[in-house]
Amino acid sequence: MPHHFQTHFRRRSRAHRVEVLPGEKCPRCLGPVFFSHEPRSSAEVGFHRAFCIRCDEWLAEACEVFKCPVCWRRPYKPSVIEGRLVILNPTALD
Ligand SMILES: [Zn+2]
Ligand SMILES: [Zn+2]
Repeated sequence: MPHHFQTHFRRRSRAHRVEVLPGEKCPRCLGPVFFSHEPRSSAEVGFHRAFCIRCDEWLAEACEVFKCPVCWRRPYKPSVIEGRLVILNPTALD
């Protein structure tokens, strides 16, 4: 298997675990607010902050970037996160 393919596969297989914050609404679009869980291993990706999927915006500032091992690689937009979205509590969207 070519190396670049392995890299691609590994990135795509990472899980971005998010949790719906019940009762919270995005201040701009009033859509649901998701919390991006911090990764527990290299198989996961996440940024320990809330975001809005509809607006594609973070709803909280990053930690002081060069001091936080999580936030220093946080992308400008949540949609740029490489990984498959895993919603931990999808029933909260009903
Ligand atoms: Zn929004
Ligand atoms: Zn941080």
